[in-house]
Amino acid sequence: MTTPLLEIEKLRVEFSGSAGRRVRAVRDVDLTIYEGETLGLVGESGCGKSTLGRSIIRVTEPTGGAIRYLGHDITRLRGTVFRQTRADLQMVFQDPFGSLNPRRTIGDSIAEPLLRARGATRAEARAAVDDLLDQVGLGREAAGRRPHEFSGGQRQRIGIARALAPSPRFVVADEPVSALDVSIQAQVINLLSDLIRDRGLTMLFISHDLGVVRHIADRIAVMYLGEIIEIASRDDFFAGPAHPYGEALLSSVPALSAAPARERIELTGELPDPADPPPGCTFHTRCRYAVDVCRTEAPALREVADGRQVRCHLPLIPVSALSTASPVKGTS
Ligand code: SF4
Repeated sequence: MTTPLLEIEKLRVEFSGSAGRRVRAVRDVDLTIYEGETLGLVGESGCGKSTLGRSIIRVTEPTGGAIRYLGHDITRLRGTVFRQTRADLQMVFQDPFGSLNPRRTIGDSIAEPLLRARGATRAEARAAVDDLLDQVGLGREAAGRRPHEFSGGQRQRIGIARALAPSPRFVVADEPVSALDVSIQAQVINLLSDLIRDRGLTMLFISHDLGVVRHIADRIAVMYLGEIIEIASRDDFFAGPAHPYGEALLSSVPALSAAPARERIELTGELPDPADPPPGCTFHTRCRYAVDVCRTEAPALREVADGRQVRCHLPLIPVSALSTASPVKGTS
């Protein structure tokens, strides 16, 4: 896991909110996603993780920053070059039904990106659709049926087949199992794990559910109020988050932590308004460790141990593990 596939630099997404206020949904995010890894992106609903995922593949247009795919900034691509590059970057949505045309057969829906983005012939597309339907466990005989004939779990398998049709290198999976029953969730996660392995996929797996993320991710990135506040390997994160927010998230599901049993930490208060974030550390209004400097100075995302970055003045890892590295990312 050493070759960057995507290098995201100072990525910003802003919207116009009520009363003309600017909502900064994604705030100067720096993130590297390595070839072949699955990066789990976690955080509360409304923290900006879906917007970040959509903006990386330009389903939502970023307001600023750069997204380097294999070294080339794709934020400036237009026309045919953009469409061809975009075929390498696909998305699995939480609600696949919304992205499927109810009047078309699923065979036609899965074939469509192959015909449009890859220039496949009808015969090539038909053969690829049959293979994909077999791979996602629906069987090729499903090609002639329409979306309403399938269950929620089956529809997500169709969504996965459609995303994989152009043979992408990178997939954003946005809460792909959160609308499914728990028993079906496990089946779809196992399917995704097999496809990642067999196809050498790189994935950004977005979820609010740490239990699901633990099963599939190699690394974890935690997002809060539009910023990345911690990046760690899966094992390091579940052994003990370095950011107080991650600590609180994990304490709410103690069965997941490898660390000795911890007290449950209640996250008090709501996520602050992204149009009016608190000064200093944006988490200080809910942090039980906050001191004066937290209310005035925004911490930088900095490397505190090998491969581990945290945006906190007082990270929660043993002092012996702290590196002397200077900040690696700017404040925002
Ligand atoms: Fe808490 Fe301060 Fe760290 Fe922010 S910088 S997470 S307020 S300790």
